[in-house]
Amino acid sequence: MSPVRIIIIGILLYIGYRLIVGGSKKKNDPAPKMKEPDNIAQNDTLEEDPVCKKLVPRLRAVQFEHNGKTHYFCSEKCCNTYRKNQGEE
Ligand SMILES: [Zn+2]
Repeated sequence: MSPVRIIIIGILLYIGYRLIVGGSKKKNDPAPKMKEPDNIAQNDTLEEDPVCKKLVPRLRAVQFEHNGKTHYFCSEKCCNTYRKNQGEE
């Protein structure tokens, strides 16, 4: 067998290998779709902030458990204010 034939066989094997590997990898990746933020808002429950009386969605609220009840706050600041008030009582 001449060296040229070996090279040709090598190239053919390489092409065959590329076809097998390339065939299994489909380049059909669709562009990732942006998640609609509306879904969160729809599934979310609004809770009233006991400090500033604002309505805050549960998932984004600062949560604080007190006497087995969970309270929801619009911010860390309101949560701290509430906790201070609870401590004074
Ligand atoms: Zn608040």
